[in-house]
Amino acid sequence: MKPAKSSPVQIARRGLMLVISSPSGAGKSTIARTLLEQDRQIGLSVSVTTRQRRPSEVEDVHYHFKSVREFERLRDSDALLEWAEVHGNFYGTPREPVEQAMAEGRDMLFDIDWQGAQQLQEKMSADVVSIFVLPPTMTELQSRLHRRAEDSEEVIQTRLANSRAEIGHWREYDYVIVNDDLNAAFDSVQSIVKAERLRRDRRHGMFDFVRGLLEETPSL
Ligand code: ADP
Ligand code: 5GP
Repeated sequence: MKPAKSSPVQIARRGLMLVISSPSGAGKSTIARTLLEQDRQIGLSVSVTTRQRRPSEVEDVHYHFKSVREFERLRDSDALLEWAEVHGNFYGTPREPVEQAMAEGRDMLFDIDWQGAQQLQEKMSADVVSIFVLPPTMTELQSRLHRRAEDSEEVIQTRLANSRAEIGHWREYDYVIVNDDLNAAFDSVQSIVKAERLRRDRRHGMFDFVRGLLEETPSL
């Protein structure tokens, strides 16, 4: 009979708050979606928004779609961890699911703009890891917004006009990725997540592990 295989060492750690921002159309939602599909340890923070639902979007999966009145009620009752006005609509992060995930040591992904990233950084800096995604060129950004084909020409023009101001915030992020080749950009994000999970200051379980290691007397 084969000897029973010992289970791999598990070190308890705090959850990551992975924030991804970019000018609209640079590809952050595509990268985020792939990450969520491939990494079952990460959950998505589903935002509330007052913007119109796109044809491909599903209520409560991509966003919780709300009226301005409902949004203001949530904001004023402190139910949002952060909120901002972006491209003329309101967006915000529901507080409760984030606090629960963090208390349970689970990782969460936030697809939010620079204003939201700043607010999370101020409130929960120890847990936030932020990534800014840039397009390879402004021409490519424009064609991606058109290729996505989910917004009207007017909305696309507003987003393009806002993109330069958004790009101006790139230095506020821990990591900056140029999304030219999607696979390469995704590999970079995976590497960041892998390394950040290994950071000593997140792995509080290491204290017990090292204590146990030093108490052990080798049997040979
Ligand atoms: P964002 O969430 O930043 O607004 P999306 O993820 O919706 O952007 O991407 C915008 C469009 O660009 C989508 O049609 C997406 O399929 C496409 N896209 C994303 N990354 C790349 C890439 N590296 N090369 C070509 N097209 C891309
Ligand atoms: P979209 O309308 O393309 O889904 O999103 C527009 C912008 O709003 C993107 O930059 C997106 O990251 C940002 N956004 C989405 N949800 C939130 C949120 O909860 N808070 C903040 N601050 N920005 C958000």
